[in-house]
Amino acid sequence: MPPRKKTSSSRKAPLSEADRSDAAQQTAIAEAHTHSYEANRPVPFFNEPLADFGQDEPRTAMAEALEVVGDMLGEEYPLVIHGKLIETRGKIVSRNPSHKKQIVGTAASATRDHAIQAIESAKRAFKPWSRVEPQLRAEYVEVIASEMRGRRYELAAWQVYECGKPWAEADADVAEAIDFCMYYADQMRRLTAPLNCDVAGEENSYIYRPRGVTVVIAPWNFPLAILTGMTAAAIVTGNTVVMKPAEQSSVIAAKLMQMIRDAGIPDGVVNYLPGVGEEIGPALVSHPDVEIIAFTGSRAVGLQINETAAQTSPEQRSVRRVLAEMGGKNAIIVDDDADLDEAVLGVMHSAFGYSGQKCSACSRAIVLEGIYDRFLERLVDATESFEIGAAENPGCWMGPVIDEESLGRIQAYIAIGQEESRCVLARDVGPLAKEGWFVGPHIFADVDPTSRLAQHEIFGPVLAVIKAKTFDEALEIANSTEYALTGGVYSRSPQRLARARAELQVGNLYLNRGITGALVQRHPFGGFRMSGIGTKAGGRDYLTQFVLPVNVTENTLRRGFAPQEPSDAAAEESAGE
Ligand code: NAD
Repeated sequence: MPPRKKTSSSRKAPLSEADRSDAAQQTAIAEAHTHSYEANRPVPFFNEPLADFGQDEPRTAMAEALEVVGDMLGEEYPLVIHGKLIETRGKIVSRNPSHKKQIVGTAASATRDHAIQAIESAKRAFKPWSRVEPQLRAEYVEVIASEMRGRRYELAAWQVYECGKPWAEADADVAEAIDFCMYYADQMRRLTAPLNCDVAGEENSYIYRPRGVTVVIAPWNFPLAILTGMTAAAIVTGNTVVMKPAEQSSVIAAKLMQMIRDAGIPDGVVNYLPGVGEEIGPALVSHPDVEIIAFTGSRAVGLQINETAAQTSPEQRSVRRVLAEMGGKNAIIVDDDADLDEAVLGVMHSAFGYSGQKCSACSRAIVLEGIYDRFLERLVDATESFEIGAAENPGCWMGPVIDEESLGRIQAYIAIGQEESRCVLARDVGPLAKEGWFVGPHIFADVDPTSRLAQHEIFGPVLAVIKAKTFDEALEIANSTEYALTGGVYSRSPQRLARARAELQVGNLYLNRGITGALVQRHPFGGFRMSGIGTKAGGRDYLTQFVLPVNVTENTLRRGFAPQEPSDAAAEESAGE
């Protein structure tokens, strides 16, 4: 199946072998791949650099992008099933969390019938796509990355409007989306390298085959990166996708769909299916033709998906595979010899960055008795100092939370904290509360480690500070939740850091630094216990979850010449004429 050729200056399709001889097309490929290749040898992966908004150029570019995108708000986004744009009766209205009256866009809202159509489309597209050379599939994904690079500030601006992300957070999400594409393309090439174990008279090759239709279900908090990561992993390994974004970030997902189409990826390989999770989720997850469900979101929904997917029906040919990245209740331990300057800033950034709405966010600070009061005082001072505001404002450090429902849930936990613990900071957001979904950072001290505040994932700017008498006790408290996602320790003691390495039950452990901001390849991300099923996103094992390993053994002992096939004989005859 030849990929679509470049039809406009913005469309950069990967090239077939024949196209490669064409010098003009060679230039196009070189443009499309910032990471060029020498003699088929990929340049090693490196992380996309983040924008420094302290510099004039990126600052101006971002301000301009916000203006341009500001003029594009309010558009409509239909479903995309097998390349067809489909309007629906129901709609998802996406609002700006900083200015709740402002409509960012209106996405179609799929029904169960649409969900089934999308799965059928992905099923039809699977056979031809699975036969596209892995190298070519990797190039397609790199072209998506290239599209993202070209639209970097525009994509960040959409996140500012749709998800209330401050500039730097929005930029980091776009950079991560690019990283996922480039890294998984690179990993796919590695996975394709022959793994042979031959002996005299016998050839053994170990190969990977795609599995089939993949349902990707994503959250809103990393609206481009997570959706791109799961989708890119599925398609680069030869699977086809039904892409179900979170309701709150359906517009950004439509932008991704547009880039996938612009990259020339054949119809049906990715289908865009915004919709209400509770309505279409069960139809997607229980469909007999679905092979993989790649989910990122809350523990409650992840477990429900896992349960539904485990049930088999007579029409099913295989057992569905569930990959689920779920929540966390992450802790940072502050030892009594810790560098307080660093610990205070690390905890503050990890707890309140993006209003605490990161799965990696710190929601518990476990502080050794000897340093407790000093740490608390300085943490409160630091948390009082940053700017809270509308996300489009370049000075904004902390913006709103995603929607009214989240705001209500966070406020309910704040009320619990006020009843059960000592509130040492409750920042007022003033008139912002009328304009958008804002809640100020809250810090609760002397929190009981078994209380709801210390055990439930709140997913907002609420930090529980817990006192520990000894380092042993601090470790015990840190490990006392059902989650195991991220965690950290600030300490100057090599022995204690070594104990943390060995004993803290987390998927990503950070020593003497903040616990958010994982980078693809450098910090492969994901947890265990109730935080996740499957291996780490952005890590070397990730793609293997999307493929079936097959071993082929051939007896190669000589046994005379093969009898001539009729087609060979005809070819010989015509060659002799
Ligand atoms: P969510 O679970 O509410 O929603 C996630 C997705 O699931 C959405 O697309 C939603 O529409 C869909 N969904 C809802 N009900 C469904 C159902 N019954 N069947 C199928 N799909 C359904 O989560 P959220 O609010 O979007 O995101 C926040 C959560 O995600 C937090 O718990 C956070 O910790 C977690 N998260 C985890 C990671 C990680 O890597 N571990 C990363 C980001 C977010």
